[in-house]
Amino acid sequence: MTEFLLEPLINRCVSTIVEHAEALTELDQAIGDGDHGINMKRGFEAVATAREEILALDFGEALQKIGMTLVMKIGGASGPLFGSLFLGMGKATPACPQSFEEATPMLKAGIDLVRQRGKSEAGEKTLLEVLVPVMEALRHEDFEKIRQTADDALEKTRNMRATKGRASFLGERSVGHLDPGAKSAQLLVHAICDVLEVS
Ligand code: ADP
Ligand code: MG
Repeated sequence: MTEFLLEPLINRCVSTIVEHAEALTELDQAIGDGDHGINMKRGFEAVATAREEILALDFGEALQKIGMTLVMKIGGASGPLFGSLFLGMGKATPACPQSFEEATPMLKAGIDLVRQRGKSEAGEKTLLEVLVPVMEALRHEDFEKIRQTADDALEKTRNMRATKGRASFLGERSVGHLDPGAKSAQLLVHAICDVLEVS
C-alpha cells in the first residue's frame, strides 16, 4: 500500500456510500430516525469536495483531515464515530502501512477512538461489530477473507439487541434488523479491499 492509493481509496469509499445511501437510510428507518444514509452521503461528499486538499497532505494528516471533515459534516451520532475512526487511524499512523501487519495497529487506534467517543464496546450493535472482527481478520492477509468477515459480522448484528445509540431506545424491538452503522462499515471495508487487492 502506498500513498498514491489514497485517491482511488477516497473515490471508492465516496462512491459506495453515495450508491448505498438509500439502503442505509432504510436500515435506519427500521431502528433509528432514518437519516443514516443522508448523513453518511453528506459527509463523504464533503470528503470528495476536499479531495485535492487531502491528497496534498502526508498520509496520517490526510486521514485526520478526512476524519475532521466527517465529524463536521455528518452530524448525528455517526459523524463523531466515523470521524474518530479516521482521526484515530491518522494520528497513530504518520506513514502509509506497507503490510496487513502494519495496518493492524492503525485500525486498532481508530477503533479505540470510536470506543472512547461512543463509550461503547463490541456487542452493542454498532459499527464496532464489523470493525473489530475485521481488525482480527487482517492477520489472514487475504482480502476475500476480510470481506467475508465483514459480511458475516454485519449479518450477526441482525439478531443483536442495541444498547447504544437511538436503536437502544427500542430495546427488544431492535432485534431482527441490521445495524445501519455496521452496514456502512461493511461497505467501507469492501471498498478498501477492492482497491487494495488490484493495486
Ligand atoms: P443518529 O443515531 O444520530 O441518527 P446515524 O443514524 O447517522 O446517527 O447513525 C446511527 C449509527 O451510529 C448506528 O447504527 C450505530 O452503528 C452508530 N452508533 C450510534 N451510537 C453509537 C455509540 N454510542 N457507539 C458506537 N456506535 C454508535
Ligand atoms: Mg439516524
